[in-house]
Amino acid sequence: MKSLLLLIAVFLVASISAFANDKVSLQLLWKHQFEFAGFYMAKEKGFYTQAGLDVEIKEFNYGINIVDDVLSGVSDVGVGRSSLVLEKLKGKDIVLLSAIYQSSPYVLISKQRPDLLNIEDFKNKKIMLSDDTALVASILSMMKTKDIKPSDYTEVPHSFNINDLVHDKVDLMTTYLSNEPFHMIEAGAGFKVFDPKDYGFDFYADIVFTSKNYLDSNPKKVENFHSATLKGWEYAFSHIEESVEIIFKKYNSQNKSKEALFYEANILKELAYKGEAKFGNINEVRIQEIANIYKLLGFTNKSDTYLSGLIYEPYDLFNILKKIFTLKLILSVTGIILFIYLMSIYKQYILKIENKNLEKIVNEKTKELQKYNEKLEKQKELYDLVFEKASGGVLLIDPKNNKFIECNDQVVELLNAKSKEDVLNRHPSELSPEFQPDGQRSDEKADAVIKLAMELGTYSFEWLHKRVTGEEFWAEIILTKIAIDTNDMLYVTWKDINEKKQVQQELQKSKNTLQLLNENLEEKIKERTRELENALNVKSNFLANMSHEIRTPLNGIVGFVDILYKNETDDAKKDKLQIIKKSSDLLLSIINDILDFSKIESKKLLIESVPIDTIEIFKHITELFFDNAKEKEICIVLNIDKDLPKKTLGDATRLKQVFSNILSNAIKFANEGTNIVVNVKYLSDSNKLYCEVIDSGIGIEPSRIEFIYNSFEQADSSVSRSYGGTGLGLAISKTLVELMGGNIGVESELGVGSKFYFTVALHEVIPDITAKPYVSEQNKKLSAKVLIVEDNKTNQLLLELLLEELNLDSDIANDGIEAIEMLKTNRYDLVLMDENMPNMSGLEATRVIRTTKYGKDVPIIAVTANALKDDKNKFIQNGMNDYLSKPIDVKKFKQILYRYL
Ligand code: ADP
Repeated sequence: MKSLLLLIAVFLVASISAFANDKVSLQLLWKHQFEFAGFYMAKEKGFYTQAGLDVEIKEFNYGINIVDDVLSGVSDVGVGRSSLVLEKLKGKDIVLLSAIYQSSPYVLISKQRPDLLNIEDFKNKKIMLSDDTALVASILSMMKTKDIKPSDYTEVPHSFNINDLVHDKVDLMTTYLSNEPFHMIEAGAGFKVFDPKDYGFDFYADIVFTSKNYLDSNPKKVENFHSATLKGWEYAFSHIEESVEIIFKKYNSQNKSKEALFYEANILKELAYKGEAKFGNINEVRIQEIANIYKLLGFTNKSDTYLSGLIYEPYDLFNILKKIFTLKLILSVTGIILFIYLMSIYKQYILKIENKNLEKIVNEKTKELQKYNEKLEKQKELYDLVFEKASGGVLLIDPKNNKFIECNDQVVELLNAKSKEDVLNRHPSELSPEFQPDGQRSDEKADAVIKLAMELGTYSFEWLHKRVTGEEFWAEIILTKIAIDTNDMLYVTWKDINEKKQVQQELQKSKNTLQLLNENLEEKIKERTRELENALNVKSNFLANMSHEIRTPLNGIVGFVDILYKNETDDAKKDKLQIIKKSSDLLLSIINDILDFSKIESKKLLIESVPIDTIEIFKHITELFFDNAKEKEICIVLNIDKDLPKKTLGDATRLKQVFSNILSNAIKFANEGTNIVVNVKYLSDSNKLYCEVIDSGIGIEPSRIEFIYNSFEQADSSVSRSYGGTGLGLAISKTLVELMGGNIGVESELGVGSKFYFTVALHEVIPDITAKPYVSEQNKKLSAKVLIVEDNKTNQLLLELLLEELNLDSDIANDGIEAIEMLKTNRYDLVLMDENMPNMSGLEATRVIRTTKYGKDVPIIAVTANALKDDKNKFIQNGMNDYLSKPIDVKKFKQILYRYL
């Protein structure tokens, strides 16, 4: 059973190996002989079989081209000569596997002849060269060195028969050193060898080659063949006898004798192992040298680069693995070493960095320490400076017991103490009087203040201290809470403010004095103001009284002159009466001016706001001055703007007063026979009345213009002499227009004339429903009884005459009491009541009358010289209906009577 299994196994192995053996055909370049011993031995000794190859060894036959056969695949591997290099240069893609002979056995031989000693002797000789020019390249090169050219000898076709040389058919013959010479020796003929190597041309012989194509598709096969072949060769050369025996028996188509084979073997062995190179090795440099020789001989002109890939590099898995393994090993060992080295460097580096960092930190810390020390030093200096050299005293209080625990020299000095010991460990109150000036106990107050400072953080105050020597002094103290070694302390600064305190006290004293003085002064000013007010009142009252006193008699004069003038028929007398009338009119106007002025001064002048007729006012006043103008042959031209509102609210009296004043001045200062133009316009933008009076007169010197509005001022001192006047008119007018919401101005040229203008604000007319309709005096005949209450006889008479003129009856009462009595018994339609009367004044009488049944409704008209504005209000308030100012203006008198009767 066991033997059966073994048999099967053997059979299997055999069949597998038989199947597995790859066929390789090898083409030899000559007939069988020892030259190819290695191949036979590889086959005979089973090296090829071991390599899985079934090699067919093909003997050379004439007519085959080994290179072409290998390239076309007729044979897989061939044996060639060095001329394979030339083939490669020609572009045939072959690969040389190994060179069996490092040195070529191909030489030129001759018989030993005296005429054939040197190559130079080849001239005119018959030489058998091979028809393979590439093969004979080394021979030709050798001849070339001695300048022997093909034309110098006769080339005879090779017969490959050594007898031709022996029998002198030729002189020289190319041959294999390992073959023909043996026959020469056998024939007993001496011979001479001309070997190209001796001339520097050493070619390889028997180069095993394949095609690139074959190699690429069978790399393993080629490799196996290559190594098995080399093995065969090594065996052949080391077992020449055995090899000769086998060749003699099996591979002897040439019928060589054993001796010949031995001879061959010995020669070839020497050539195979010639030089340093390993058996079979092909050297790239030598291949290039061979190529150069071909180039030199003109066989080719291709460059060496065409040789790349010519020499086979065995595909040796083991080698590759070994290489990879070694490489890996080397790499990993180097890697580990490198890693260890790098690690050590890295460690050193890290250590270095750490060292550096450490050094840096140490340096920094040292620097910080230095800085800190410096800071400490500075702080100490600062402390010395602040504490010891401070301008004031500096102390420390321990808030636990409120005692001084540290102080500087200043404190010692301030307290007149001998040393710090006098200060330290003492309570502030021990260095103070028992009581502070506010009456608090020093010890209690000190504790309270310290407590406060500890709470607030800082506290400043003034304190009265006592020196050791007993004197007291004021100190300004600042307490500041500080922390020393986590303990809270109070930092105390003392500033001696004794001097300041003294100055303060003195200041307070002078302040008190000043206050006293001030109070006195104020009192005095008040007193003086009162006095002045009184004086002003006195003056105003005096002026009012005086004008009343003057106007009362003037009233008589004006009234009676008027009556006399009217009744007088004698022209001469009439003229004189006229003069008296004018003079008294003038006097009256002067008095009126003074009265107005005094009213202005005491600010008692008030402006009415009642419905007025603007056009009428200007017409009326202009007409009034017609007579005056006529005297100087002056023509007054009055132009009134049609836009000027006719009805407005205002004070007719004051408007008339201003206009008359300016117009009268114009007439006064105009040249005779000139025109005076009055233009009255409406300023719609500002809603104002504008009036200008233009005269051609003396004009005003520019420098004087600013003074003409001053009271009692005239443009020239000569004015009063030549023209009269008080210098009050413009001053009053200016005040009046300003009170009426306007202004006054002048443009004047000395000797040419002046233009005076003024404006007055206009107010909207509010229809006065209480106003009685105006009744023309011509239209109505009055019939009524009037009671005249008047103490002055002249005035009584004057009023009687005026009433008579109006056909009115009148009774006279001499004072208020009489008036009341008469009103009880008689019925009167109107009462004319004087104000200033003995026994009972007009106001008082009116008040009484108004309380009675009979006098409740009777119109009472005040007749007064006290024509101040507030007087009018006073009259109305006391029950009077209206008032007439003295001297009585006849026109006004009549108007009032018509209105109330
Ligand atoms: P009076 O006319 O009473 O002197 P006024 O106050 O009315 O006082 O005038 C002051 C002065 O202004 C006058 O004295 C006169 O020198 C000057 N003056 C006024 N109006 C005219 C005028 N139309 N032409 C020249 N001078 C005038």
